[in-house]
Amino acid sequence: MAQLGVIPHPDNFLIFYSYLAGTNPDMNQTIDILRSNHRAFDELQCKAIHDRFFSTERERKITEQITTELRRQLNNALNNVKKIGVDTTKYAEALDHFCDYISSKDFSNLEQSLHTLVGATRQMEDVSHVFGQSLDSSSTEISRLRQDLAKMRHEAMTDGLTGIANRKAFDEKLREEAMTAMESGKPVSLLILDIDHFKSFNDNHGHQVGDQVLRLMAEALERNVKGQDFAARYGGEEFAIILPQTTLGCAKQAANMLRHNVETHNIVSKSNQKKVGRITVSIGVATFRFGEPLARLIERADDALYLAKSRGRNQVASERDVERDAQHRKDQIISPAKGAKSADGKPAKQRCA
Ligand code: GH3
Ligand code: MG
Ligand code: MG
Repeated sequence: MAQLGVIPHPDNFLIFYSYLAGTNPDMNQTIDILRSNHRAFDELQCKAIHDRFFSTERERKITEQITTELRRQLNNALNNVKKIGVDTTKYAEALDHFCDYISSKDFSNLEQSLHTLVGATRQMEDVSHVFGQSLDSSSTEISRLRQDLAKMRHEAMTDGLTGIANRKAFDEKLREEAMTAMESGKPVSLLILDIDHFKSFNDNHGHQVGDQVLRLMAEALERNVKGQDFAARYGGEEFAIILPQTTLGCAKQAANMLRHNVETHNIVSKSNQKKVGRITVSIGVATFRFGEPLARLIERADDALYLAKSRGRNQVASERDVERDAQHRKDQIISPAKGAKSADGKPAKQRCA
């Protein structure tokens, strides 16, 4: 921060802490581009970055604006209702007078009385007209505000680069599906997908092509993921897919089909139409165990992904494979293969009883 001349205050610390921690890849990319273009990180620039990527403050302000406007519209409508209430009472009084006048059977002032009644009716008509117009404009304004809110919610749940659901939307959906699974007793599975060697892909072809691959990946997921299944960008070059009503075995099959689709797809650069080769993905699969914290489900899918990577990438591993792998290691320690020798050439000792 000192090198870039950034003023050290909490908002700026947040930006640069996140930059170093790599928790916000979109922001890192923006900062990298600004740095490579030798742009100054003055207060204006830092504030723009903060507003763009740490949007809680921005969202709070927009929500506040919308709420204030909504309250103003409702107050308007309420005042109009009160006003028309007063006018209606006056009109009812005028009608009452006229009824009394008719009942008295003294029609000496008939013209005057009719004139008053017509005047009161016209006034009521005008008031109703203005009231109707004001209600119309309030209802238009309120539906506009409702659209703004829906748009804001959609933006908050969408990944800026790929246009698919973001991590926040994923968290919400996973909570929802876990609840549904517990209610219905049906399984829900989770895939975590990570592009293999994406760093070298970026290094070889540039960030722009890397971004294009992330968009293609998101499109492929949307195409492959049907019905109630849900795909999201989990962060960086990782994606997550929620598969409701799907057992671990079926989820693994779906993951393998997806992996195969990706591996056979030829990527062509949008900027120069040149073939840039293929990418592969590794996928970890886990199934929700009713009642467990969701972090544990994600952890198991992550462990399976790690196993798929360690087995050579471009493959799928499930939580069951992780268990088998662990069991296999344990068995090897307890009873080493027959004839196995230790480093000194003697038969290996049994390390665990
Ligand atoms: P592995 O097979 O182990 O997953 O290797 P990897 O290189 O894919 O993994 P690593 O974690 O080392 O690097 C991830 C890379 O993903 C680094 C970063 O440049 C790239 N990346 C993350 N987010 C974006 C993005 O939004 N756009 C682009 N172009 N690249 C991104
Ligand atoms: Mg990764
Ligand atoms: Mg990767």
